[in-house]
Amino acid sequence: MNTHAINHLAIRGTSFCGSTIVSYLLGCLPGCANIGESHWITSQRSFKCLRCKDECSIINDDLRTKLSSTSLGWYEILRNALKANILISSDKDPEILEKYDPERFRCELILFKNPGENLISYSKVLSTPPIDCYEDYLSNWIRIYTYRYSDQPPPYKYIYLNDLLQQPARFINRIADEFCISGKISDNDIQLWREHPHHSLGGNFDPWDVNCYHKIAIKPPKPFQEGSLPVDVTTSIAYQEALSVYHDMLSSQNRIKF
Ligand SMILES: [Zn+2]
Repeated sequence: MNTHAINHLAIRGTSFCGSTIVSYLLGCLPGCANIGESHWITSQRSFKCLRCKDECSIINDDLRTKLSSTSLGWYEILRNALKANILISSDKDPEILEKYDPERFRCELILFKNPGENLISYSKVLSTPPIDCYEDYLSNWIRIYTYRYSDQPPPYKYIYLNDLLQQPARFINRIADEFCISGKISDNDIQLWREHPHHSLGGNFDPWDVNCYHKIAIKPPKPFQEGSLPVDVTTSIAYQEALSVYHDMLSSQNRIKF
C-alpha cells in the first residue's frame, strides 16, 4: 500500500480504545518494537519504562537528551534506540502525531470500538464524574476519528478492536501482511506477551503490576448493550454523531478484515 518502506506504525484512537494491548501485541512481531505513549518521555513528570523502571537501558536521561537536542526525527530516534526495523507507537492523538512527525513518515492504524463501550471503560476510572464529562469525552472521540489533515494524510487503515480480540494472533498477522511486515506471531506469543522484552511507557495501567493484569487482558468481545451505559447519553447529539462515525469506520473499505 505504500511506496516507501514502513518504519513507524502509529496507533491513532481515543483513550480506552484498546491501544495498550494492541501496541504490545504488535511490538511482539519480529523486527517491531513498541514504545507506547512516547510523548510522555520528556514530560515534566519524566515517566519511566513500565517494565524496567529506573534500570532501563533505553528509556533514560541519555534518550531524553537525544530527543531534545538532535535534528533527527522524534520517532526515528526512538526506533534507533529500540533497534527496531519498525517502531510501534500509541500516542493516539493526531495533533500529537503531527507535532512529532510533521513530515508524516508514519502509517496510521486507526483503532476503534463502539463509542458506548468507550464510555463504559471511561466510567470505570472516574470516581465522581462531573455531569458533562461524558459529553466532553464524546466530543473528543469525534475529533480524533474525524480529524482531517490540511493536505495529504499519511497512509492509514481502520482496526476494529473486536476483530482483533476474536482471534488475536491471526489478526495481528493480518495487520503485518497489510503493511508488508515479514514476521509473524503465534497463539503462544499472544499468551506470553508480557515475557517479550518490551521497553515502553504510558497507558492507564501498568502491564507488569499483577493487580492490573485483569485490566489489560485479552478477552473475547461481548455484544454491546446500550442499557449498560453509565448514563443515558443515547439521545444526545454527540452520541448519535459518534455512532454515525463508528458505522462509517465499520463499513470503510480501508478497514482491515480477516
Ligand atoms: Zn525498559
